[in-house]
Amino acid sequence: MPELPEVETVKRGLAPVMEGARIVQANVNRPDLRWPFPENMAKRLTGATIQRLRRRSKYILADLDTGESLLIHLGMSGRMLISGAKVGSFTHDHPPAEKHDHVVFHMESGARITFNDPRRFGAMDLLKTETAEQHKLLSVIGPEPLGNSFDTDYLIKALSNKASPIKSALLDQRIVAGLGNIYVCETLYRAGISPLRKANQISKPRVATLVPIIRDVLNEAIDAGGSSLKDFRQASGDLGYFQHSFDVYGREGDACRTTECKSEIKRVVQSGRSTFYCSNCQR
Ligand code: ZN
Repeated sequence: MPELPEVETVKRGLAPVMEGARIVQANVNRPDLRWPFPENMAKRLTGATIQRLRRRSKYILADLDTGESLLIHLGMSGRMLISGAKVGSFTHDHPPAEKHDHVVFHMESGARITFNDPRRFGAMDLLKTETAEQHKLLSVIGPEPLGNSFDTDYLIKALSNKASPIKSALLDQRIVAGLGNIYVCETLYRAGISPLRKANQISKPRVATLVPIIRDVLNEAIDAGGSSLKDFRQASGDLGYFQHSFDVYGREGDACRTTECKSEIKRVVQSGRSTFYCSNCQR
């Protein structure tokens, strides 16, 4: 499942093709994904110019000149395929239509953006730009971890009444937006905090270290996404999932990367999700 850095990468990949560009035709090939599409979605998108692409948590928002914003969620398996766009001196050919191409945007430039989602956990909706933040999916989300309102005071307060393990607390989208399983595991490893420790039993100085670490972990992943974006766009135009290298995530049984630590990375299941950590380095 894409987390904040992957969604940010997809947004950055789409921006050169979609921002300031007009949709001459939108095709909507089925009535729903995870939820029903809004009424007349194709009609409401056709002819609209995308003024700005932005991200809120794991959602991409395309602000249109019609006063509406298109909300896009990639779900578990959603991919955006760009074709017909000029990348330097190359152009990606339009691929033949595939079974799970659910929504297609034909841009005035000749570029095409195809949303393909085999598992259909993705979502799209149209909302008034003015009140977008009040949308039911967005209004419940906590502060952006890379934004100004996410700071030490905020996090200390937010965790002070959480008796759940810190792993679960950081996955709670009401506490911080966009963090998922992978980056929470990486953050806790870097902070040396056990994922099993109760959130409200971690000292304030230790909670304070989480804020810059979360930002670093996410920014590094966004940077890595940016470099893979170059390769992907040149190779295929397919904005999908990028293989980052992780310190603990997916490394069960492998040696801990901390110098002098002789332990192996462990895996436990918390709230149905795998947690990877080093029980020697993380207390
Ligand atoms: Zn270790």
